[in-house]
Amino acid sequence: MITTSDLTKVYRSRGREVTALDGVDLHVRPGEVYGVIGRSGAGKSTLIRCLNLLERPTSGTVTVDGQDLTALAGRGSRAGAPLRRSRTRIGMIFQHFNLLSARTVRGNVELPLEILGLSRRDRARKAAELLDLVGLADHARAYPAQLSGGQKQRVGIARALAGDPKVLLSDEATSALDPETTRSVLRLLRDLNQQLGLTVLLITHEMDVVKSVCDSAALMSGGRIVESGPVADLLATPGSRLAHELFPLDGGPSAPDHTVVDVTFHGGTAARPVISQLARRHEIDVSILGAAMDTVGGRQVGRMRVELPGRFEENVVPIGFLREQGLTVEVVAPEDAARSAAGSATELAGEGTR
Ligand code: ADP
Ligand code: MG
Repeated sequence: MITTSDLTKVYRSRGREVTALDGVDLHVRPGEVYGVIGRSGAGKSTLIRCLNLLERPTSGTVTVDGQDLTALAGRGSRAGAPLRRSRTRIGMIFQHFNLLSARTVRGNVELPLEILGLSRRDRARKAAELLDLVGLADHARAYPAQLSGGQKQRVGIARALAGDPKVLLSDEATSALDPETTRSVLRLLRDLNQQLGLTVLLITHEMDVVKSVCDSAALMSGGRIVESGPVADLLATPGSRLAHELFPLDGGPSAPDHTVVDVTFHGGTAARPVISQLARRHEIDVSILGAAMDTVGGRQVGRMRVELPGRFEENVVPIGFLREQGLTVEVVAPEDAARSAAGSATELAGEGTR
């Protein structure tokens, strides 16, 4: 549904150059909720603005629903109309909602419909339908100032859906909201994704957002995508930075010659019985240094950091046992074992997540 190829954006201001996007290849499949995460300045907002050509890429292509938008934008002024038409197929919502304060809720939702040239009657009908869809039918006559943050974002969503988009882009749309309101807005996005088959690309710095709604995710750093793929696959990939961001674990070995591993378990596999089986069968004192558990894409996923007494070489059999049980095992300490394991895992990840 969304593909970028070698997308680059260089900002030039006052003789200074900033490479905000540095060869981004993004692939978002139809009907998925795709999360983009990364630190401030990573290039996330630039990427999303390039996807609907609010920002003109320096080089590379953007294809949405089979249409090469960069080609449309490049064809001079006469291409304005086709680009505008294609843009109505891409909705966008923002962190600070960007509503017009002098217009009512209905007036805000009708704005894109006016630009599309709908008659007054059609606008009213469509706006009523959209407000119903986002649960704001009773607030059509209210002004933005009279609404809560969550309600304002629902108006933003209704407005974004006015052109019947196939794609919804969201730049930190829940970052200004409290946790409960965030959950309800995410639930709405998930419902729209499922009911309308809407493809959603959302930027967030909140890992909970990725865990609760995203099918796939990409991690950006320094204008590049450093990791991407289905969230479930990333969680099962040893050495995945995204997995570590989603389920951070810390803690080192209690003695320098002990081995520490991170174990990831999914759905059917419960970790505790496996760990206690390991302790019994191999008669070793396993200690759990930390654990994080959550529901990802409707499935229970967890990570656990476990210390095994003895050096890495002595733990090859126990680690093999954990892997046989279907768990992903990543060596954290000792460092040399972790490094060599991470090296081969990175190669695997590079192939598996492309
Ligand atoms: P993010 O959304 O991940 O925080 P941005 O895409 O906003 O990152 O910014 C990426 C980089 O591009 C940053 O270094 C930022 O300072 C720079 N940048 C963003 N917009 C502009 C602009 N209009 N002019 C110059 N530099 C910009
Ligand atoms: Mg940003």
